[in-house]
Amino acid sequence: MIGFFKKLFGGGEDRDPAAVAVAKTKSESVAPRAGGEIAGQNDGATRHVIIGAGPAGVSGAETIRKADPSASVTLIGGEPEPPYSRMAIPYVLTGLIGEEGTYLRKDDDHYDSAAITYIQSRVESIDAAARSVQLSGGDSANYDKLLIATGASPVAPPIDGLNQPGVHHCWTLDDARKIVSLADEGANVVLMGAGFIGCIILEALAERKVNLTVVEAEDRMVPRMMNETAGNMLKQWCENKGVSVLTSTRVTKLEAGAGDQDTITVDLDNGAQIPAHLVVVATGVASNIGFTESAGLKTGTGIVVDNEMRSSDPNVFAAGDCAEGPDFSTGGWQVHAIQPTAVDHGRIAGLNMVGQAAKYKGSLNMNVLDTLGLISASFGNWEGVTDGESAEVVDAENFRYMRLEFDGDKLIGALSLGRTDHVGAIRGLIQSDQGLGVWKDRLMADPHRFMEAYVARSQM
Ligand SMILES: Cc1cc2nc3c(=O)[nH]c(=O)nc-3n(C[C@H](O)[C@H](O)[C@H](O)COP(=O)(O)OP(=O)(O)OC[C@H]3O[C@@H](n4cnc5c(N)ncnc54)[C@H](O)[C@@H]3O)c2cc1C
Repeated sequence: MIGFFKKLFGGGEDRDPAAVAVAKTKSESVAPRAGGEIAGQNDGATRHVIIGAGPAGVSGAETIRKADPSASVTLIGGEPEPPYSRMAIPYVLTGLIGEEGTYLRKDDDHYDSAAITYIQSRVESIDAAARSVQLSGGDSANYDKLLIATGASPVAPPIDGLNQPGVHHCWTLDDARKIVSLADEGANVVLMGAGFIGCIILEALAERKVNLTVVEAEDRMVPRMMNETAGNMLKQWCENKGVSVLTSTRVTKLEAGAGDQDTITVDLDNGAQIPAHLVVVATGVASNIGFTESAGLKTGTGIVVDNEMRSSDPNVFAAGDCAEGPDFSTGGWQVHAIQPTAVDHGRIAGLNMVGQAAKYKGSLNMNVLDTLGLISASFGNWEGVTDGESAEVVDAENFRYMRLEFDGDKLIGALSLGRTDHVGAIRGLIQSDQGLGVWKDRLMADPHRFMEAYVARSQM
């Protein structure tokens, strides 16, 4: 699995858990001073404050530092650990890496030596008129330019019993510790939700050899990433590997369980009950934007930004899972909650914050999963457009599937199952935004020929 991600994202530190797996160090944080402006902000340099120390925030902070060596850069992170990558949490669950392997930067003094002031604290509110952010504990940080990179948080359905012991999200390192302590070999585990994040957790839980049941309310697995054909092929694959997958099924309640081990009983809407030692809730996420209300920024599902990652306030930028940014495929605005988008957003925001104009082309909706050895991928506008055309090849027996979506003679989206050799080519064809000419008909006749089409297009 690690090798697969390396191939997919290249060797970038942000994107490759293998690259961070050898990290051994912790970074120090600077405690805010009581009741005043934080240290290092009064020396006359342009003050850049970044809220959120995930991939988007770290990318933004480092971009600013590089582009303006004289600026003051303050990075505020709300979790107790040094800045880390959630994307690496599954590898902590499987034991492939330790917690330190998730840290985004390896060196103990990385932030100090980059002259980035790292503060562990939560921002409670923003005073846009005074250009200041209020931290928990009463301190404040003044800014000339502000980047909001606060990510997202998991959301749970409105059912009873979610607060009992043994029920956890899988979003933070703290969640990971709790899951590791309960997900022993043979333990009965229920995973609520088979979306993109749910399927990543599924893979890690299966590697821990638990007795796993997945409950998904929609009619297929990864319903926002795969159509019915591909989602149900994935379900069949998981069932063949010994994972029980219940689609079109809802959890209605969690009750105290009767067993010594199985302390939870999961009630389903079909009347069935499943005993569980651990329930993992992966039923979606929402952008962390509530605390920005005082700033009066334009928001939708996230903070709405233009193609410079600038919000409706010219001094405030947003990036990553909390930002509703330009969508390459639709030309509209979307929250694309994946790490490569967060890193790109952070970089574009950082450049514009120091006055180096950089335009964002828009994020391509792209998700790739390795589920118990079956690779599935969706790209761009995989649901197609009105008056568009599509071509598909289904080989259910061998778990291979390919579907291409066209608008005129442009490739705009794709779905695939069972192929690992194509990610760059399909992404390239979609992002080139160029007509395929004679290759459109060839791909309609055989969608698997996309690599030849890519090579042909590259030579034009
Ligand atoms: C288990 C798991 C697996 C994943 N796997 C993949 C994958 O394979 N590929 C992929 O592309 N993506 C994956 N993701 C999604 C990816 O992790 C996110 O898209 C990415 O972390 C977004 O980065 P971000 O910087 O926007 O937000 P985050 O990484 O969420 O960082 C935001 C930071 O802001 C902090 N913060 C929030 N509010 C405040 C506040 N008020 N004050 C101060 N700090 C605050 C948070 O504590 C956090 O540290 C996965 C996520 C999970 C949970």
